[in-house]
Amino acid sequence: MIIIETCPECGADLEYLTIATYPPIPVKRCTRCSWRWEGKREAIIRIPFKEDVIEINQDITTDNE
Ligand SMILES: [Zn+2]
Repeated sequence: MIIIETCPECGADLEYLTIATYPPIPVKRCTRCSWRWEGKREAIIRIPFKEDVIEINQDITTDNE
C-alpha cells in the first residue's frame, strides 16, 4: 500500500521533500495552495533491501514511537 497525505487546508496531494542538511529536515508542501510543514532534523537509517519492505517500515515506525 502507498499512502499519500493530503493538504489539511485544501485536500490536494502533498509533496514530500527533504532539505539536504545533515541530518536532513523533512518538508511536506501542498501542490495547490501555500500550505507547508517543516519537521525537525531526522536521523538517517540505512537498511538492506528486502522484498517485504512494508513490514520493515512498520517495525521502524514502531521503534521510534
Ligand atoms: Zn493545500
